[in-house]
Amino acid sequence: MPEARITILEKGSRPGGAIRSFHQDGYLAEWGAHGFLDNIEASREILADTGLEREAQKAPLDEFVRYVCLNGKLNLVPQNPKKILASNLVSLPAKLRVLADLWKKPRREEQSVAEWAAYRFGPNLLPFVDAVLTGTYAGDLNRLSIDAVFPGIREVELAKGSVIRGLLQKRKAARSKGGAAPKKRLPAMISFPQGMGRLPEALAKDREILCSAGVTAVDKREDGWEVRTATQSYRARTVVLALSVNQSLALLQGSSGLTSEKPPMASIPEARIVTVAMGFDSSAQIPFGFGYLAPEQEKRFALGALFSTHMFPGRAPTGHVLLEALVGGRRHPEKLDLDDDTLVQKAYDDIRQLIPLPSPPVFTRVLRSDHGIPQLELGYPALLSWRNRLVENNRGLYVCGFGWEGIGINDMTKSARTVAGAIAAGIAAKGETEVKGVYF
Ligand SMILES: Cc1cc2nc3c(=O)[nH]c(=O)nc-3n(C[C@H](O)[C@H](O)[C@H](O)COP(=O)(O)OP(=O)(O)OC[C@H]3O[C@@H](n4cnc5c(N)ncnc54)[C@H](O)[C@@H]3O)c2cc1C
Repeated sequence: MPEARITILEKGSRPGGAIRSFHQDGYLAEWGAHGFLDNIEASREILADTGLEREAQKAPLDEFVRYVCLNGKLNLVPQNPKKILASNLVSLPAKLRVLADLWKKPRREEQSVAEWAAYRFGPNLLPFVDAVLTGTYAGDLNRLSIDAVFPGIREVELAKGSVIRGLLQKRKAARSKGGAAPKKRLPAMISFPQGMGRLPEALAKDREILCSAGVTAVDKREDGWEVRTATQSYRARTVVLALSVNQSLALLQGSSGLTSEKPPMASIPEARIVTVAMGFDSSAQIPFGFGYLAPEQEKRFALGALFSTHMFPGRAPTGHVLLEALVGGRRHPEKLDLDDDTLVQKAYDDIRQLIPLPSPPVFTRVLRSDHGIPQLELGYPALLSWRNRLVENNRGLYVCGFGWEGIGINDMTKSARTVAGAIAAGIAAKGETEVKGVYF
């Protein structure tokens, strides 16, 4: 919308929110996101528009593997659920149980991801589902809501009576539309030589962003909106709250004239993690791949670790490698209270039982992000419906951002594009439910 006058108000002292890179002594680690997949049109558009596609570092899923810790050992896991089923990681009876999905009647009531997956596919797949949700939400599959976390898959199940049948029919319909589909490559993980911080830096370039300008209220007026900070007041025809779910809820509950209907919950849980960055000399034998994830049943100290210098070379001085262990998450907030030295020691002790690390790290740094990952748990769909009614009843108000329609960067770019289109058309934004790929 080139003709629109846009004012961006940012509470922090820099743009970027949860995305922030860390540089020291030739090491490059991340406080938050490590990358995003290049399989979403809206994200590819951003790369093209900002010129970042020329800088992007790519780690293709076709070439990289992920490991899952099972029975105290790292197991190489293929990048998609179909291949996991074909592998010897799953027993024959467990493979046959997956087929029960074809005749298990859908249960319409809201369920946790664990209940839903065990009912449809059998309990043997739960460690893999746990690993996926640990790697994305740092969450608890017994609390996350299937309707909120995988709405596309749930829609297919309810419409067709079976996930497998529904997905096969979808694929057949797509093929008959477009003829014989070329063999699909898996997407690639994207980051930048300066780290993910480069993304908000490029997006902020040539845009006026007023930093240290936290919005305290958004009030509805007869002719539009009044947006207030501690020191200023702005009038606008359109307001976009591009904030995490809890930040939006806090703001909306302190604003006036919007709705008399209270949200079904005042806030949602967030999962916090710390990153323990460890640099090793060349004696460390880190297996090639993205990293590993450890399901809860393994009772390990770290949720997993990223093999950062395999994924994106250049993140450690020559002759060294960087490993970033992730600790805490929804199920272990108590670990965040440990001091830095203890975190490093425990993460190192844990990981060297899985990977040959003959010498202690030569570089360590504990990164404690201020940002939690919103947990879309049981009850969340009611909150999303409340948000939808709110924006439908308040012309010119848009509410999107971290958690509302997913938690990944790709979810953000998709909803940003939907919101921009809706503003241009003068209508309320309505996202489309789609089946997302599940990758480790
Ligand atoms: C530890 C961690 C790891 C992650 N890893 C990945 C990953 O590997 N891949 C991936 O795709 N995604 C990952 N994510 C998610 C990704 O970071 C988010 O999708 C993305 O940051 C959300 O962007 P956002 O701008 O909506 O929200 P945020 O990043 O939360 O930004 C919101 C901004 O709004 C500002 N703000 C808040 N309140 C106000 C107010 N009242 N007034 C004005 N400004 C305000 C904040 O200061 C902040 O700058 C991770 C997140 C975390 C926390």
